[in-house]
Formats: sequence, structure tokens, C-alpha cells
Amino acid sequence: MSQSLSARHRAALPSWLSLYYEEPIEIVSGRGRHVTDAAGNTYLDFFAGILTNAIGYDIAEISDAIRRQVDTGILHTSTLYLIRQQVELAERIGELSGIANPKVFFTNSGTEANETALMLATQRRRSNQVLALRNSYHGRAFGTLGVTGNRGWSASALSPVKVSYVHGGYRYRSPFRDLSDADYIAACVDDLREVIETTTAGDVACMIAEPIQGVGGFATPPDGLFGAFAEVLDEYGILLISDEVQTGWGRTGEHFWGIQAHGVTPAAMTFAKGLGNGLAIGGVVAEAGLMDCLTANSISTFGGNPISTGGAAAALEYLLDNDLQGNAAKLGTRLLDGLRAHAERCALIGDVRGKGLMIGIELVEPGTRTPAAAAAARVMELTKQRGLLVGKGGLHGNVLRLAPPMTLTDDEAAQALQILTETIALAEQELH
Ligand code: PLP
Repeated sequence: MSQSLSARHRAALPSWLSLYYEEPIEIVSGRGRHVTDAAGNTYLDFFAGILTNAIGYDIAEISDAIRRQVDTGILHTSTLYLIRQQVELAERIGELSGIANPKVFFTNSGTEANETALMLATQRRRSNQVLALRNSYHGRAFGTLGVTGNRGWSASALSPVKVSYVHGGYRYRSPFRDLSDADYIAACVDDLREVIETTTAGDVACMIAEPIQGVGGFATPPDGLFGAFAEVLDEYGILLISDEVQTGWGRTGEHFWGIQAHGVTPAAMTFAKGLGNGLAIGGVVAEAGLMDCLTANSISTFGGNPISTGGAAAALEYLLDNDLQGNAAKLGTRLLDGLRAHAERCALIGDVRGKGLMIGIELVEPGTRTPAAAAAARVMELTKQRGLLVGKGGLHGNVLRLAPPMTLTDDEAAQALQILTETIALAEQELH
């Protein structure tokens, strides 16, 4: 018998390339918020790829924009020539950024976006010292691995960045977790100041931070934390980079960019994932002085190509025209309320957190804070059997992550809530 695709995947691709599920699925088509696998099973996608499919599947406006470029006979030549879509999208993102005098550089991924932002900040400040948050994830290249504060994802021993980590992102497992919001922020600010004074040489280039930690299990700090951090960073001349790879484009509901909940405008924001609705595109938006601080030439061969930027421009207009941010706020609140009500009755749930359509459910051994990773894996399997795909993550692999396309409907939200509450209760019965 011929080998399964998953066996061939294991043989041909690296052992460290993660796959979901004991029996991984091959998704072959999608419509709206639903995807279908090669065996003909259809699922409601509550992870939107990995927050890549912000709008959903089979969006005519995006396909048309891509087709128009395909019809020219040119998929891409080179970023050494003018590309109209690239310029137009840069102007649009600059306007939306809230950054004064903005400029945009396009990449093919979130990793490259963060590498670029780190390169800009370290050049500008002539220092390779960087602050990052514990439990963070910023990508899989040398610099970004260095600032990733999660040993499950980082191999930073050889990183060129000298990084110091601070508290703040992951409140549920923080020593300051039981404090009020204001006291939590004050304790994190004290820690930041102490880290700067004790573990750095004093000339730190930047802090890089996710407003809500994505891979870290949708860990959500209290509003205002990064505004309070920024006051300290300003004192020391340290630039703030907001990694909006997961939190951008209105996904958090109340704001277009996650950092806006903190009352601060960063020096640079990085983005990727949802912008292209599945196309490979990322980038950095930064104030012109920071963006232009490089003197050496630097291009990305594919970053800014006409297929990605044209498709992303169509996706961005769709997202804005249809107020998907508003929909994320409305349905996110409904899901959070429903899950929090269920958590009152379910000892397996240690924490429900998030904003908009970015919700984490941290599973623990009942009556403790001990991570329940096996339960999370079981819930994922049970939801899949019932036609719902969810994500998993967190430092201990015990957090279910919900991030459906932002076009989600009321009925789909209700259906997912029902499946989740049933399957979490079932996993609790099975395992305890
Ligand atoms: N930054 C954040 C917050 C992410 O969640 C990720 C990916 O999950 C990255 C950066 C890296 O992006 P990419 O996988 O596109 O390189």
C-alpha cells in the first residue's frame, strides 16, 4: 500500500515542523468560515489557519485582485522596479498606523518583519541590547529567536541579540497575578526599571512586545501596561516595537491595532498573518526617521510583490468596508461571556482571557494551576470530531486558542460555543 501523506510529510520534512492532531488533516477547499479536508469532512475553522484567514475563504474581491495580476503574465519581476500595488498598500497602512510621518517596508513573513524592526532599532541606537517579555514569540530567525521568551520555541544560544526579559505579558502565571490591574502594572513597571538597571549595559535599543501574546496562549495583560512601560522606555531613550502579527487588523475588536488599548503610539509596528488573508505578506511600519536610518542597501526580493500586495490591499478594504473589527468586538464579547459562564461550572478551566476574536482557554488540573496539556489535546481531538477546528498553544501546551475568521456569524459563534462547552466537559469527565 502506498504511504499516507502524513508519513511522507514526516519522512520529507523536518521533525521539528509541528503538525496538529495524531492523524493530521489535509485541507483541500474552503468557503466562508468552513474548510473541507481530503476525506470530505467539513469543519468550522475557529483558528483561521493561524489567524491568517482574517476574512475567511473564497473571497471574490481578493481572488479578482490576484487574477488581475496573473492576467498581466507577470507574477513578480523584482522589487528593483516600481510596483504600483506596493506603493498604494504602503500609503494605506501608513494612514491606518497612527504613526506620524510613516513609512512601510514589506516582507514575506512575520519573522522577517520583526528581524527588520530589530535591525532598524539596533542600527538607530547603535546597540544590540533589546528588552522582550517573558513568554513571548517573535519568529524563527536568529534575532527573533533571541527575543522569544519561550524555551519550547526558541534556540537562542547563538542569537546576535543581547536580550533581557521582563514580566508583564502572562499574568496568569506571574508572581504579581493576584494584584489589582493598577498594582500589577506598577509591579511590572518596577521590574522593567530594575531589569534595565541591573541586567543591561544601559544603552538598550528597543523593547519588542506583543500586545496579546499569541503563541504564548493569548495571554492578555491589563490595558495601560505598555503605556506605563513607554514612560520608562522614554526616560532611557528606548524605542518600543509593537509586534502586531496576531493582534493587528481589528482582531482584538475594540482597536485596529492591539497596542492602542495601552494609550501609546510605538516607534514601529510589525505585521503579517491576517493582512493577506492567506497570502504570504508581512512588514514594518515605522516613523520615517527610524525607517530611513539604514545607510546600506537592503531589499527583499519577494517582499512587496504585486500578487501579495494587490491581494492584501483587496483584503484590507474588505475588512474595513464590512467593519469586521466591529463584528470581532460583538461576537468576541458573546464568546468570552459564554466561556466565562461555563468556566464557573468547570474546574478544568483555569482562565478565560482575550479580546475580540482572540480568546484563550487555559486548562488546568482541577483545583490547581498545574497545566493540563493532555486535556487540551483531548479537547482539540473531540472538537475536530464534531466539526470544529481550534488552535492550541501556551508555554505548557495547555491553552485552547480561538481565532475564527472575523466574518464569523452569530449562528457559527453559538455553534462553536456549544461544541466547546460540551467537549471541555467531556474531557473533564474522561480525565478526572
Ligand atoms: N510574531 C508573532 C506575534 C507571531 O505570532 C508569529 C508567528 O506565529 C511571528 C511573529 C512569526 O511570523 P511568521 O511565522 O510569519 O514568520
